[in-house]
Amino acid sequence: MRHFMGFLGCLVLPAALSCAAAVPPDTADREAALLLISTEALARGQAHARLRTLVTEHPGRLAGSAALAGAVRWSEQLLLGLGLDRVWKQEVPVPHWERGAPESVRMVPPAGSSLPIVNLAAAALGGSIATPPEGISAEVVEVRSLDELAGLGREKIAGRIVFFNRPMDPAEPDPGRAYGAAVDQRSRGPRTAADFGAAAALVRSMTQSVSDLPHTGGTTYLNDGRNIPALALSTVAADRLGAMLAADPLTRVEVKVHSRWHPEALSHNVIGEIRGTAFPDEIIVVGAHLDSWDLTPGAHDDGAGVVQAIEVMRIFRAIGYRPRHTVRCVLFTNEENGLRGGKAYAAMVRDSGEKHVFAVESDGGGFGPRGFSLGQNDGPVHERARRWLPLLQPLGILAFTAGRGGADIGPLLPLGVPLGNLLVDEQRYFDLHHTTADTIEQVHPRELHLGAAALASLIWLVDQEGL
Ligand SMILES: [Zn+2]
Repeated sequence: MRHFMGFLGCLVLPAALSCAAAVPPDTADREAALLLISTEALARGQAHARLRTLVTEHPGRLAGSAALAGAVRWSEQLLLGLGLDRVWKQEVPVPHWERGAPESVRMVPPAGSSLPIVNLAAAALGGSIATPPEGISAEVVEVRSLDELAGLGREKIAGRIVFFNRPMDPAEPDPGRAYGAAVDQRSRGPRTAADFGAAAALVRSMTQSVSDLPHTGGTTYLNDGRNIPALALSTVAADRLGAMLAADPLTRVEVKVHSRWHPEALSHNVIGEIRGTAFPDEIIVVGAHLDSWDLTPGAHDDGAGVVQAIEVMRIFRAIGYRPRHTVRCVLFTNEENGLRGGKAYAAMVRDSGEKHVFAVESDGGGFGPRGFSLGQNDGPVHERARRWLPLLQPLGILAFTAGRGGADIGPLLPLGVPLGNLLVDEQRYFDLHHTTADTIEQVHPRELHLGAAALASLIWLVDQEGL
């Protein structure tokens, strides 16, 4: 019960509750405060309506785009409208890559075959260099892993198109883990293929669903002039190409990418805070990332987290809660293809000496909440937080697990800041992740608002009692 003042001392209560009832700070008080929060979040939640505006007016918020600049202005205006104590922007230089005209991948049967040429659904990976205008046409080497690629060696790879086709492990119950175990093909595969002299790289989309949607994403490039065009294939297209190669290894593929790199652009982290009454110099952050991939509305990734972080601030203002610590909403820029926003924010914290007592992020999609991961450099902070499980259970929070925060707040970990991550039911997240299908229709208001309630409740508990 460290730092506990009792919520009656800290809230401007609605008329239905009276300050005359000076109840001691026991569990009933906490439950009453958390009920106020969840009622505000669920009965009067505004996150879903705001998400609709964000993804309708500013889809495709990739770094350097007009859409991201529009989202920066939109979110700053929203925070200003909440009557916070301070709203500002932090300048962040960001990379600027554009896809250009739609890419294409065509499967071309060997000469003399009666089979038709087939278009394969594909999306260039973020940062992919362009092909020559006429495209690249070559035979294909299919591999299941980077080790298999290395085993083949330069002789079998040079001049060919490498096709990484290892599916996400269906036996893994946790989709995030299955993604993590497969994504090396996308993040490092193209660059490794380039080192062996490949002409281009194709990567099976990172999803367990069977669909014809290609999933873009980040891939590693080095500034040494040896990069190659890299594209994701839909899982349907990957299966089709795999079957064709099994039938005829001389099948060729034609790839066209029309992307372009521009000079760096200026973007911003958007920040708003409510000053703490007791510890104004000790800061609690709730964060998410404003940017998205270019081809997606970015509703789950991470528009959901953005509107939830804004909603936490709205809820506290609506119920009249004056936090003891400063509560700060940070909407990070450029998570997807640079993490520049997260790095710039952590650098500002380090340079200014600001004390952060907790940072929590929502970047797993706007699905129903299931728990929080918590972690810091020293101490099992998630075990201490388990005392709160009975209070958060009604919102679907069933576990506190060990973790290291989300991508944007991750750079705060070396500064000793305890980090949290909202865990959600992620089984359908990777059906939509980094695709054109990540739309507002895929986000259920109830689930989104439960997540906002869980975030606000956890921040209230940390503010009142400490981690
Ligand atoms: Zn994200």
